Amino acid sequence: MLAALITDQETVALQEFDHPEPEPDQVVVDISFCGVCGTDVHSYQSPGPANPSTCGHEWVGHVSGKGADVDRLSEGDRVVIAVPPSCGRCAACHAGQMEKCQTVLLATVGRGPFSTPHGGFAPHLAVHHGRAVLANSALTDEQAAQIEPATICFHAVRATAPRLGDVAVIQGAGPIGLNTMQWVLAAGAGEVIVVEPADARRELAKDLGAHAVVSPGEEADALIAERTKGLGADLVYECAGIPATVQSAVNMTRRGGRMCLIGLAIGDASISPGAWLMKEIKVSAALGYTHEEFEMAMGYVADGRVDLDALHTATVGLDKLEEVLIDLGSGSSTQTKVLIDPRV
Ligand SMILES: [Zn+2]
Ligand SMILES: [Zn+2]
Repeated sequence: MLAALITDQETVALQEFDHPEPEPDQVVVDISFCGVCGTDVHSYQSPGPANPSTCGHEWVGHVSGKGADVDRLSEGDRVVIAVPPSCGRCAACHAGQMEKCQTVLLATVGRGPFSTPHGGFAPHLAVHHGRAVLANSALTDEQAAQIEPATICFHAVRATAPRLGDVAVIQGAGPIGLNTMQWVLAAGAGEVIVVEPADARRELAKDLGAHAVVSPGEEADALIAERTKGLGADLVYECAGIPATVQSAVNMTRRGGRMCLIGLAIGDASISPGAWLMKEIKVSAALGYTHEEFEMAMGYVADGRVDLDALHTATVGLDKLEEVLIDLGSGSSTQTKVLIDPRV
């Protein structure tokens, strides 16, 4: 069996692994689709190997085997990947901060007892059963494969709770921005403005319900000023994931407004602390989700309030992964979410 790993900067290797056998607390999943995430693209562009466990961390598949201690899942169940529930044993759990479990955090970054020798860019994978969430039966496989990133955005928007009437800005209309935008609309924001440089992505944001779309820079500043009587947005979601956009997100926010970081910028960002202080800005950052939030998010996709089909632009085989990483990292890609089908 071949699994794709990012073994160094701009290097994808198809490595041979034995067909996995489940440990007592594991399930083996036959993977149907695995989405390519911005994190995979960052890893491909960065020096050194990507963590094998997170290389392909957005997948759906069917349980094809399970260990003796697994009683909550059966063979044939369709499952999506998640981080495990809180461990109940680490210092954070003992401190009563179950939602800040250190073992879950380690799993999020592909380390610790729940890590795996490769990710979902492979036909089969053995994982701890706690990392497998039953997929809502109303979802297609292509929708279910996109639930992990969708739930990351759901979690962030749920935590920041836009109020009725809020003017919200989504900075960046890649998969994370387009997901976030849909949750913000579902949560009842008054007006949603999407700031994005690529024409095709602005167009897609408009199709998915954005009240206004605009290019970054002076054009965006003018539009936000016009829509808010010069005050700035109530709430800005930073979904571009590049260091320069951290300060621009604050620039678009009104005094006393809120900025939420969802996009993962690698490297340090230059900010203007004076502007943050003068604006009395509230900044929050979001990482991860709970299994309950997975189920909630799947319900919105199942009944059509959130459209993931529009984000899915291509499906290719494992041998095309490197081409996809190059294309998505080029800055001029016409793709939004690309799914890898390891069965091809
Ligand atoms: Zn991801
Ligand atoms: Zn814990």
